[in-house]
Amino acid sequence: MKWLNHLVDIIYPKTCEACGEPLSGGEKLICTQCLIDLPRTNTHLNPDKLIERRFWGKINVSHTTAYLKFSKKSKVQHLLHQLKYRNKPEVGVMLGELYGQDLKAAGFGNDIDILIGVPLHNEKEKQRGYNQANCIAEGLSNTLDIPYVTTAAKKALKTETQTKKSRFERFRNVQDVFEITDKELIKNKHIAIVDDVLTTVSTIESFAEILLENGCAEVSVITIAIAD
Ligand SMILES: [Zn+2]
Repeated sequence: MKWLNHLVDIIYPKTCEACGEPLSGGEKLICTQCLIDLPRTNTHLNPDKLIERRFWGKINVSHTTAYLKFSKKSKVQHLLHQLKYRNKPEVGVMLGELYGQDLKAAGFGNDIDILIGVPLHNEKEKQRGYNQANCIAEGLSNTLDIPYVTTAAKKALKTETQTKKSRFERFRNVQDVFEITDKELIKNKHIAIVDDVLTTVSTIESFAEILLENGCAEVSVITIAIAD
């Protein structure tokens, strides 16, 4: 059926997930120009620990790194939009693979045992069909040769009332309630938490806390994008 795929490509040419222009032969998901233009942070090469600083005083993270700079109406936002809202899990895998190549070349992650995407609520995952963080973890795993795990944790809605807590704490509890579903998988492991975009650190902080409370040895953070 190769000829049929070919025909479909001619009638409906595949377009770049970043700029929308038709792809030429050999290009997959993203065009060569966009690939060159992606605003890489190169945080994995920089010793100034700009991202780590965001976690200081909150949670002890070993390494944190983000692939691309996120800004509104940018190609990066467009790519992440395709991944999250346009049923394009393959965009997450591709971005993970691309970043994994860079990280591997820099020797980043030699001490990381497993990758875990930040869990999504079950309902949300069902609706979307996948967890975008897992797609990225899968891509990273492909090129970094570090296994990724999807069954160690989940995110649940907490309904229990928290009347004694402050308004802020109650808010946090409703926002991010993670549960460990398989302690053995995380025990004594150095885990890299994977997510699409780092905006505030609160979600990753909550997830890291629960991993550490349940016996994981160390956490690091890898995201595809970082917002100012
Ligand atoms: Zn493009």
